[in-house]
Amino acid sequence: MFVGRHGWPLRFRAPETDTDIPVKTSPHLYVHLPFCQQLCPHCPYTKTLLRGADAVSRYGAALYREIDAYRQRSAGVPVTSLYFGGGTPTATPELIAATIAQLRTNLAPDAEIGVEVHPADASLEMLERLKSLGVNRISLGIESFRPDLLKLLARRYTPEQGIAAIRTAKSVGFTCVDVNLLFGIPGQAITETANEARQCIELGVDQISAYQLFTFVHTPFGKKVRHGDFANYGDRARLRAQDLLNRTCLAAGLERSSPWNFTRPGIAPYSTVTQEDYVGFGAGAGSKVGGVFWFNTFSVDAYTDQPAPRPALVMETSERFRKAHYVYWRLYRTELDPADYRAQFGTELERDFGGLLRTLQASRTIRRRGDGTYYVTEFGAVWMHRVQQLFSITYIDDLWDRCYGEAWPREVVLA
Ligand code: SF4
Repeated sequence: MFVGRHGWPLRFRAPETDTDIPVKTSPHLYVHLPFCQQLCPHCPYTKTLLRGADAVSRYGAALYREIDAYRQRSAGVPVTSLYFGGGTPTATPELIAATIAQLRTNLAPDAEIGVEVHPADASLEMLERLKSLGVNRISLGIESFRPDLLKLLARRYTPEQGIAAIRTAKSVGFTCVDVNLLFGIPGQAITETANEARQCIELGVDQISAYQLFTFVHTPFGKKVRHGDFANYGDRARLRAQDLLNRTCLAAGLERSSPWNFTRPGIAPYSTVTQEDYVGFGAGAGSKVGGVFWFNTFSVDAYTDQPAPRPALVMETSERFRKAHYVYWRLYRTELDPADYRAQFGTELERDFGGLLRTLQASRTIRRRGDGTYYVTEFGAVWMHRVQQLFSITYIDDLWDRCYGEAWPREVVLA
């Protein structure tokens, strides 16, 4: 099996003692800010309605405690990327400012600082404020340019505001302006996302991140799908919409940087949790470093009220799992270099995964360059997208469903 008999099932457990808490560090940090002005029915992420200054400042205090504890053990590890996601980070810009100030001395001079920006918040004043804090890349959650679909998704802006948000972001001069688009929304035409991507590229965006509409079981949309009240998009139609979108981005000169992303050449992709290793802070934030995975509680209240920061769940993995995870994430980021694998693990990629690589090559999922590097073909990228989607809807959904129901589960087994 790909991950070997010691890699499955995935078993997360609550840490039993203080010495059981991961103390690993990474140059890549993620900060989760969970407050939103409105809750969207498809959204699977940890979030809560913005309920006033007190809840925000108490959450901030818990967040700074967690970051402080990390800073004490990570002195000397420069932060090369810091991303803010949510939730709606721009609903609480004061938390962004305070966190950047807290980490200021840890940041490498050319650190990537990225923020997810809600289009309704993307005023010139907000974007200039972010820029003045040192934010150099943003991701706009545009999702669609159709008013009825925005309404279906409970997004609180019009297509015109979405376009204005892109124009303003470009005028402010961020290194990377990423735009999220959704495909597979019921009622959406097959050509629609491709046309929207073209429009965004013409407006000068640096990256298109295109996701299929997921219907996770714990979301209002997921519940509707289960009760038969919500017609999911057909699989063939979704594949065609994705194919058109991919072709449009490539024809416009963007390069594939992951199964979901197309980025302008020469621009480092906007990427939050697609780093190989990262440490996350805040409610529901996950971390993975050196084969150890851990998550904070998904409950915003439980996170805020905990006396001291501690992860809710930890999973340590076998050597075989770490290698498989490395191979998967490298292919996810479109390239796999055997020399880098050897440097990481001290063994040969072909010896460890020869059968898998041959199967992927025979099925045209990957190819090999003259320098020995494997790369994912366009056909392969579509299949990686589907594998990731299946993994998310099957296993991640189980994990989230359980963690949303119980703030501090003792154990979660994904089998
Ligand atoms: S999609 Fe964004 S704005 Fe909507 S609920 Fe989720 S985190 Fe909040």
